[in-house]
Amino acid sequence: MNIDKPITIALSKGRIYQQTLPLLAHAGIEALDDPESSRKLILETNHALVKLLIIRATDVPTYVQWGAADIGVAGKDVLLEHGGEGLYEPLDLRIARCRLMVAGREGARLSGERLRVATKYVNAARRHFSAKGQQVEIIKLYGSMELAPLVGLADLIVDLVESGNTLKANGLVPLEHIMEISSRLVVNKAAWKMKHPVVSELLEVLRDAVERQDD
Ligand code: ATP
Ligand code: MG
Repeated sequence: MNIDKPITIALSKGRIYQQTLPLLAHAGIEALDDPESSRKLILETNHALVKLLIIRATDVPTYVQWGAADIGVAGKDVLLEHGGEGLYEPLDLRIARCRLMVAGREGARLSGERLRVATKYVNAARRHFSAKGQQVEIIKLYGSMELAPLVGLADLIVDLVESGNTLKANGLVPLEHIMEISSRLVVNKAAWKMKHPVVSELLEVLRDAVERQDD
C-alpha cells in the first residue's frame, strides 16, 4: 500500500486489538509495540505515517467523530450507544463476534408491569423492548450486569453473550436474542473526503482481508 498521508487508527486493547492485527498486517501495517505489555497510548508502526491510538472501547467512536483519529475499530454495541454521528461505517470486520441478549434468572418474567432492566446498552435495550410494546424501567450500569438480577436490582439484563459461561456461572440464562454483534471499521467523515485515496485503498485491502479470514 502506498501511504502518503498521516493516518491515525483508534482501537481498544484486548480482543479487538488481537483480532485487528492480522487484518492490518494484510495491509502491511505492523505495530512496533505490544499494547498489552507497553503502557503507551500511541503506538508507532512500521509505517512512519501510521499511528495506532489505544483507548477504551467505548471511546473509539468519540475520537473518530472529532477527527482525533481518522479511522477506528468499534463493536456494533458501542456504535449503537454512541449513535454514529460524524462517522461512516463502511465495513463489517467480522471480528469480536458475540450476541446482544436479554438474560435473567430461569423463568424470569419478560413482560408485565414495572419490569426493570439493568444494562450498559441503554439505547439498544430501550429500542428492543419498545419494539415489543413492553414498557421497562432501564437502569444504567457500567459493568458486571450479571449481578443485578441476583440482588433484586433488576428483573432482566441486556448484555453481550459469547459462550454463555458467565451467565451460567451466575445462575442466569439467555432469554431473548436481540442481535448479532461484530466490530466495524469506522471512518471520520472529513478524513474520508480529505484523505480519500489512502483511506479508500486501506478500506479495500481490509475488505479483502476480511473475506480471506472468513474462508
Ligand atoms: P472494558 O472491558 O474495558 O470495560 P469493554 O467491555 O467495552 O470495556 P472489551 O471487553 O474489550 O471492552 O470489548 C470490546 C468489544 O468487544 C465490545 O464492545 C464488543 O463489541 C466485543 N465483545 C465484548 N464482549 C465480548 C465477548 N464476550 N465476546 C466477543 N466479543 C465481545
Ligand atoms: Mg469487557
